[in-house]
Amino acid sequence: MTKDAENVQRVTLKKILEENGSAEYLQSLGLDGRTDPESFKACVPLVTHKDLEPYIQRIADGPPASVLTGKPITNISLSSGTTQGKPKFVPFNDELMETTLQIFRTSYAFRNREFPIKNEKALQFIYSSKPSKTKGGLFAGTATTNVFRNSEFKNATKAMQSQCCSPDEVIFAPDFHQSLYCHLLCGLIFREEIQFVSSTFAHSIVHAFRTLELVWEELCADIREGVLTSRITFPSVRSAMAKLLKPNPELADLIHWKCSGLSNWYGLIPELFPNVKYIYGIMTGSMEPYLKKLRHYAGDVPLVSADYGSSEGWIGANVNPKVPPESTTYAVLPNIGYFEFIPLRENAEEQVQDKVDASFISMEPKPVGLTEVKIGEEYEVIVTSVAGLYRYRLGDVVKVMGFHNSTPELKFICRRNLMLTVNIDKNTEKDLQLAVEEATKLIAKEKLEVIDFSSHVDLWSDPGHYVIFWEISGEVSEQVLKECCNCLDRSFVDAGYVSSRRVNAIGPLELRVLRRGTFQKILDHYLGLGAAVNQFKTPRCVGPTNHKVLQILCDNVAKSYSSTAF
Ligand code: AMP
Repeated sequence: MTKDAENVQRVTLKKILEENGSAEYLQSLGLDGRTDPESFKACVPLVTHKDLEPYIQRIADGPPASVLTGKPITNISLSSGTTQGKPKFVPFNDELMETTLQIFRTSYAFRNREFPIKNEKALQFIYSSKPSKTKGGLFAGTATTNVFRNSEFKNATKAMQSQCCSPDEVIFAPDFHQSLYCHLLCGLIFREEIQFVSSTFAHSIVHAFRTLELVWEELCADIREGVLTSRITFPSVRSAMAKLLKPNPELADLIHWKCSGLSNWYGLIPELFPNVKYIYGIMTGSMEPYLKKLRHYAGDVPLVSADYGSSEGWIGANVNPKVPPESTTYAVLPNIGYFEFIPLRENAEEQVQDKVDASFISMEPKPVGLTEVKIGEEYEVIVTSVAGLYRYRLGDVVKVMGFHNSTPELKFICRRNLMLTVNIDKNTEKDLQLAVEEATKLIAKEKLEVIDFSSHVDLWSDPGHYVIFWEISGEVSEQVLKECCNCLDRSFVDAGYVSSRRVNAIGPLELRVLRRGTFQKILDHYLGLGAAVNQFKTPRCVGPTNHKVLQILCDNVAKSYSSTAF
């Protein structure tokens, strides 16, 4: 399939347009039955979620009609939206489910060649979001929930020898904290059979083991007595767990002994799950900051990044699973959607000019086709999906690192709209991550770590300045924190930032240290909005309209420092 990606793209577009040509949206654009890429690009405009929102809202409100797709949409996915402030609705259908399973199978095939697993069990930290119905009666849940609920999902995971060790009642438990506790307990009960540990995003795996550090003695007590802790209150979960839990003092002693013997929890995963072959989950992009902690728990067990996609549709599979997450690329599957790419930079030297011209460039995008992209260049991804999105700007920036046959291998760079900017400066999520990495080296010397971080542009002060929020694992001296603050300020090397700082057109960067548990409060806030932990991404830059999160952050500041670096 990847040997003739261009042709496969034509065929895929034709199929999408034939299946959905009768939809009101496509009818209105004057395609008149044409399905070739040239006519498609001439008639169909590039759109963002905002442009399609009225159509999606009509689908959600009912009655069923061919609005965006030929066959009416039956399910709505809630995009995690933690990068946008509020959850977005996107359509989900059987065709999208099929492509989901296709990409799962593809990367599994490559993974299993490198890291063969036995047909036993997987410790999967997967959760369902709070399901709801739209006004028109459509099921609305996160995309992952839509996938887990689908009857095809079980068969597929069986075929991929990847069945979750926890019963469905645990996955679909109405409370995330109870679900997580039971996942851990199931993992320990089946510890010898666990072949890999996974979650959709790496953040959930780290979160799970941080929780284990706190509850391990309670878990041991449950295993010893064969009785579930009273904090698990849902009857369906209790009765499902009762079937698995038998008094087992030997296992409890063993786990107790292993946990007590670890040094700062290093190598926790292989110690508790001796047959684990790899750790699996999305580890690139905004998940990179969690890799250090994940490696600490994983010891010498390899980390393998999962595929690249979104609630809107899948894009690429990790077909080189031995590559460490920092260098992971995703081979675009040419039959999974129709893809276009807006070039962002001609070459590195033009970057600074590009930043000045960014608004102009984004007004005049000239996308290229899947096989026309060039190695070393960065692009914004445009998706035409099997679920009713046409020429949809996903908002992600990717870099072409090479080709797998004739399909490009993409490195995820960042979200396009995620920017720290006061005036001519523009710093992306990646720039922020690099600055934080640099500054955390100063506290690493004291064996401390940044549990999580976020940022905000304070435009109330004059001049405006960057605010970086840190939650740290322990106490750090005033002196070191002052140095961290200066280091952060110096680490934003964007020309616009540095020149503005020099003339005080941007004020001193502020480091605000948060109380322990602040990011847990933010996670809980998003869960309350109906998000699922599976799709949770810590908001790395909190905009002024995201009042609630900003308030949580500001209410929990323990100390604050202003940079003296310039
Ligand atoms: P959601 O809105 O929850 O469906 O999240 C989709 C977004 O998550 C994508 O648009 C990306 O920004 C990010 N994402 C998904 N897969 C990956 C990946 N493999 N690497 C980095 N970021 C990813």
